Amino acid sequence: MHSPIFSLEVFPPNTRTSVNTIYDTMDGLKEVEPDFVSVTYGHGAFKDRTRTACIAATIHNEYGFPVVAHLTALYSDEAIVDQALQYFHEAKVAGVLALRGDPVEGNEPCGVFEHASDLVAYIRSKEPGMPVFGACYPEGHVECSCLEEDIANLKRKVDAGATHLLSQLFYKNDDFYRFLDLARGSGIEVPIEAGIMPVVNVRNVETMNQRNSTSIAPALQRMIDRWGSDPKALRQAGVVYASEQIADLVAHGVDGVHLYTMNRPSVARSIWQNVEGLFGRA
Ligand code: FAD
Repeated sequence: MHSPIFSLEVFPPNTRTSVNTIYDTMDGLKEVEPDFVSVTYGHGAFKDRTRTACIAATIHNEYGFPVVAHLTALYSDEAIVDQALQYFHEAKVAGVLALRGDPVEGNEPCGVFEHASDLVAYIRSKEPGMPVFGACYPEGHVECSCLEEDIANLKRKVDAGATHLLSQLFYKNDDFYRFLDLARGSGIEVPIEAGIMPVVNVRNVETMNQRNSTSIAPALQRMIDRWGSDPKALRQAGVVYASEQIADLVAHGVDGVHLYTMNRPSVARSIWQNVEGLFGRA
C-alpha cells in the first residue's frame, strides 16, 4: 500500500513586505517533510506576477522541497502565461496549479482563458512534460447549480490534461467521500488530495463560509460556540479537529492531504506531530 501524499500551501507575503519573510514560514515548516509545497498566485491585474516564482525558487533552492506554483487564468493572456512559465522554469517548479481565479470588481478579464480547463490545455500544449494540477470542490463550486454539474466540468479539466487535483477545504469528511465517489464514478482517475484548513479563529471560518459556502459541521459549531472568544483554546481545538479529520481521511485510503498553512507554521507543525506516523514518515 502506498503512503498518502502530504503537501502544504503557503502564500507570498503581500507586496509591501519583503519576500524574505517567507523564510520565517518555511523555517517553521522544515520538520514537516511535505511531498511538495504549493505557492499561491496573487490574482488580479495589479499584482506582482514574479512573486510566486520568487517564493518557489526560494523554497526549492533553500529548503529542497518540490514546489507547485499556482497560476490564474482570468487576467492572463498567452504572453502573460508564457512569461510565468518561463519564471517557473527558472524556479525549477515541479508542477503548475492552473486556476481560473475570481473576478475582481472593476477589472476587465483578458477574455483569453475563460475556465481553468482552457489554461490547463494551454500549459499542456506549451509544456507537455509539466504536471498540471487543478482545483476541485467537495461541496461543489459556489457558481455551480449542483455538485454533479461541477463534477462534469471537473472531468473536462482532467480531459484537458490536469494530472492531479487539490481540493477546496471542507469540514465534514462525509462531503469529501461523497464527492470522491461521484468523481471516480464520472471517470476521473487522477490523484485527488483532500484540502484541510485548520480552524485558527472564528473570522477565518466565517470568511470561508461566506466565500465558498463551506458548511460547518455540528462538532465544529460546538467548538466555536464554546471557545469562540478564547483564541488560544479555539486554536488548540482547531488542531485537534484537523488532526482527526486527517486521521479519518487516511484511514479511508485517500490519495493525500493538502494542508492550508495560512503561513502559520506552528499550527501546521502541531498537526504534523499528531499525524506524521499515518504518512509512513515517523
Ligand atoms: P474552474 O475550474 O474554471 O471552475 C469555475 C466554475 O466554472 C465552476 O463553477 C465550474 O463548474 C465552472 N466551469 C468550469 N469549466 C466549465 C465549462 N467548460 N463550462 C461551464 N462551466 C464551467 N485563487 C487565486 O486567485 N489564487 C490562487 O493561488 C488560488 N489557489 C487555489 C487553490 C485551490 C486548491 C483552490 C481549491 C482554489 C484556489 N483559488 C485560488 C481559488 C479559485 O481561483 C476560485 O475558487 C475560482 O472561483 C475557481 O477556480 P477554478 O480553477 O476551480 O475554476
